[in-house]
Amino acid sequence: MLYACKEHVEIALDDMIDETGNFPQLTEIDDQLSTKACAYCEKQAHYLVANKDSDPSCG
Ligand SMILES: [Zn+2]
Repeated sequence: MLYACKEHVEIALDDMIDETGNFPQLTEIDDQLSTKACAYCEKQAHYLVANKDSDPSCG
């Protein structure tokens, strides 16, 4: 899964689709609660982009 700011959320979605072939689940994070940084810049993340069908046997 990836964290992304508002600017980079579309890139994060594209990357996840490239990786998984499926449209990922997009979760909005409350700015007040977010302590994560965007995966593409140093800004505070505003979205969590996660694979819907995460495979626990993978990895
Ligand atoms: Zn960003």
